[in-house]
Amino acid sequence: MTDPTEHGQAWEELVATARRTVADGLVVGTSGNVSVRVRDGDRGEELILVTPSAVPYDRLGPDDLVAVGLDGTPRAGTLAPTSELPMHLALYRNTTARAVVHTHAVHATAVSTLVPELPPVHYMAAALGGTVRVAPYATYGTEELAENMLDALTGRTACLLQNHGTVTYGDSLSQAYDRTAQLEWMCRLWLTAHSVPGLRPSLLSEAQMAEASQRLAGYGRTAPPR
Ligand code: 13P
Ligand code: ZN
Repeated sequence: MTDPTEHGQAWEELVATARRTVADGLVVGTSGNVSVRVRDGDRGEELILVTPSAVPYDRLGPDDLVAVGLDGTPRAGTLAPTSELPMHLALYRNTTARAVVHTHAVHATAVSTLVPELPPVHYMAAALGGTVRVAPYATYGTEELAENMLDALTGRTACLLQNHGTVTYGDSLSQAYDRTAQLEWMCRLWLTAHSVPGLRPSLLSEAQMAEASQRLAGYGRTAPPR
């Protein structure tokens, strides 16, 4: 078994991120889950720290760390890992994800019941890899849901889960979290624009999205003009 104290800081960040999803209204109660990939000192093995299933995030302390291997075998902790372990593991096995955030954000979940992809109403979709797809519905916690999610995430860092919620990943917990917040904001934007009677929102073309994507690659990297 792994020495849980070695990953204390990563666990603290993970719990803080999970609490933020509640504080910011992206989930209610114990809904949603968060994970982060770490390297285990002794053997250099990759471990995944995950939120436990069905435990309120404000009750989680340093001793509640839950770690599993990439194959899902328990490595540390006594609490049961999140029921969505198949989704988290599918991402760590198939992408460069270092952190994963799953929520039931209300506007995003509403959109997931209406369309097969979020219409491109804003250039920030380019920051998520392009137009955000909706993974077809499957029961929570199943391999089928994990497969549907992985398909929907091809070339993207965010997707919606039909009648369920959001999944995003990134190089860090804060990047994965920010992507969730941007996705929820964009879903709210589309719902708002789409709800005006008699009018339909204008959408961005593929060329416009590609141009935004190119420009975003340099976002924050160049000094603003004087
Ligand atoms: P867990 O409490 O098992 O993480 O489940 C929450 C959830 O969102 C399932 O989809
Ligand atoms: Zn869920």
